[in-house]
Amino acid sequence: MPWCEDCSKFWTPTSMNRDGTCPTCGRQIGEPAKVPWHFKLLVIATVLYLGFRAWQGFVLAEEHGVLVYVLAALAVLGVGAWGLVRRRQRSGAA
Ligand SMILES: [Zn+2]
Repeated sequence: MPWCEDCSKFWTPTSMNRDGTCPTCGRQIGEPAKVPWHFKLLVIATVLYLGFRAWQGFVLAEEHGVLVYVLAALAVLGVGAWGLVRRRQRSGAA
């Protein structure tokens, strides 16, 4: 378990900052947290699967002649999400 001399305190790997520094004083007290390879594999597989399903959805929408509406709905959702992210960033920085 990593020990911080300045704070005289033990930190568990999950309570440290992700870069391995002390949450209180910012000293380097441990190894930076590494992302396990199987987690990256899971993310890649998920992105590939969801991308494939999205592509299937676009093909289906085109076959039924509603692709324009799907794209319009996605644009509205995208603008809404972008607005939420911007508002959260502004309130978080203040
Ligand atoms: Zn410390």
